[in-house]
Amino acid sequence: MQKLWFGDIKLFSEEYLKKLKGLAGITGVVPDNYQIHVPGYKVSDDILDRSPFPRGWTEWPAAKKDIEAGGDTDIAYPVYAGIAVQTDDAPILELLEACDRVGIDVSTHAGLWGYSGNVFPEMGFVDVFGEAIDEKMSPLAIPLCPNEEAVLAYEAESIVDVMKRYGFPLLNIDHGHFPPLANPHGLLGCACTRCRARASELGYDFDTMAEAVKELVLKLRRLTATGLEAVYKQATSYTDAISLLGAEEEVFKWLEFRSKTVSGHVKSVSERIIKALGKPVPIDSHIMPPSMAYLSGQDIALWSKSVDCVSPGWGSAVGWEEATIQNFAALARLLAGATGADEGFALEFLYRIFGYEDVGLPATIKGLEAREYSSFDVYKKEILLMADKIPAGTKILYPFDATQSMRGRMDEMAELIGSLKPEGIVCFNWGNENTDEELLSIGKCS
Ligand SMILES: [Zn+2]
Repeated sequence: MQKLWFGDIKLFSEEYLKKLKGLAGITGVVPDNYQIHVPGYKVSDDILDRSPFPRGWTEWPAAKKDIEAGGDTDIAYPVYAGIAVQTDDAPILELLEACDRVGIDVSTHAGLWGYSGNVFPEMGFVDVFGEAIDEKMSPLAIPLCPNEEAVLAYEAESIVDVMKRYGFPLLNIDHGHFPPLANPHGLLGCACTRCRARASELGYDFDTMAEAVKELVLKLRRLTATGLEAVYKQATSYTDAISLLGAEEEVFKWLEFRSKTVSGHVKSVSERIIKALGKPVPIDSHIMPPSMAYLSGQDIALWSKSVDCVSPGWGSAVGWEEATIQNFAALARLLAGATGADEGFALEFLYRIFGYEDVGLPATIKGLEAREYSSFDVYKKEILLMADKIPAGTKILYPFDATQSMRGRMDEMAELIGSLKPEGIVCFNWGNENTDEELLSIGKCS
């Protein structure tokens, strides 16, 4: 069974790696560095010269100002599509040597196009009204356009460069998605000229779809609390709700087109990487919370054909627990504000259409934000949904959250995941070591 650990590169001292292997059965690590979003690589100069991103970004006035102010902002440290900055690679070289001695794998980790559309708007995402995404609604994960050839080519080329340079046996890619639902504005794009052309290639009538999406937005602007209650009485899924809110069939085609765009992008990058390497490499990619992934352009069945393995995202934009909760909070705030409905009712509505009525989530946004719920139960819901949605024969690494939020429940988590007979898991505790007892609990997952 493959057992990976996703965490801060500083977490993986040789002593701790031995424990991870010996007690938890960890077979490989996926290192990252929170600030720069990759563990830190050198990239060949000629590759960087072909980057669509500005060379020497950290010296640019906007970035320099934020860096000097000590800010961890997305202007100072954008999440690039591919690897677009030279960084000190001593930590990754040390980790490769330590893992070699301990006998576990190190995976390449790099992002795709799902961020930085606000930093590099010339390659950015445009909605059906021709506008950029409203950053104020949520600064999280504003993507680049997924059909920009320069981005597609650069992602593959820069990833191949570091894979060859360091000899990584595995590749873990994330951020191949449209925005999380915490920013529902993201549902209205990408509608730039590149995406319009892509829609035609795929056989869609772009203008009809865009008109239907605009029409639905106008209907939603007129939605009242009474209207929301009428939808609540009949809807048992978000698909029902979208229909009952007045969406025409073309709106569903729009969602389908978005998911084909995203999985097509991931497939294209995967194929370019394998071709350039001249050999297959196991490619694993992060997926959003399964209850809502489709609305961020990730159709699990379609997506899983584009890679060798799927695994969970982590954190506030894509994590199966954190992003789910943030999405509920943001959507409830929006629905209540726009319709005048009670906040508790807005939450009840959302829990119903996303299948969360039985999870015991709080009746207030404040309660959600204060984490007055069981993280275990949220993971359980998403893990079982994934087990249901993933096509037979597709490899999946289930999430094993090893942070404080799962304290005291790790045996239960091992049992839950083990009951699904998985091919693997990916554990997460960003920068904190777990106790020996906790690692032994993870070791029980088989
Ligand atoms: Zn586009």
